Amino acid sequence: MKCPFCQHEDTQVLDTRVSEEGDSIRRRRRCARCDKRFTTKERIELSMPIIVKKNGSRTEYASAKLRGSLMLALRKRPVSAEAIDTAVASIEEKLLTSGQREVESGYVGELVMLELKRLDKVAYIRFASVYKNFEDLAEFQDAIAEVGQDRKTRK
Ligand SMILES: [Zn+2]
Repeated sequence: MKCPFCQHEDTQVLDTRVSEEGDSIRRRRRCARCDKRFTTKERIELSMPIIVKKNGSRTEYASAKLRGSLMLALRKRPVSAEAIDTAVASIEEKLLTSGQREVESGYVGELVMLELKRLDKVAYIRFASVYKNFEDLAEFQDAIAEVGQDRKTRK
């Protein structure tokens, strides 16, 4: 780690602390040449699991694809870009901390549905009806009925 003041290569670590969230480390350092002190924050590298598709093929996780699916489901719905960002971050956090090297694409779909359910019921049904055939028809009908009620109360 280079000294930010004099660019000297040799710095000594005085103190190491893991952040409260457990995802980064703070190190208090001292430059061996100019004796100035500074703190570095180092992120612990977690890697995204590989996505296993239904046909068994593997693909790398792509943030843009996830965002694309959410945007499509939320098209013309009253949900802010910020709320979408938060949903993407929440899904990625779950994937990162799953500790798995590989996850099934169905699991990612479930995470998306959880977020959509929270964000917007119409988008949730849009996504769910395309993404998977509901195993439990009653569940699907309940969801449709809920949206129907929303529409009635709006008019
Ligand atoms: Zn220095």
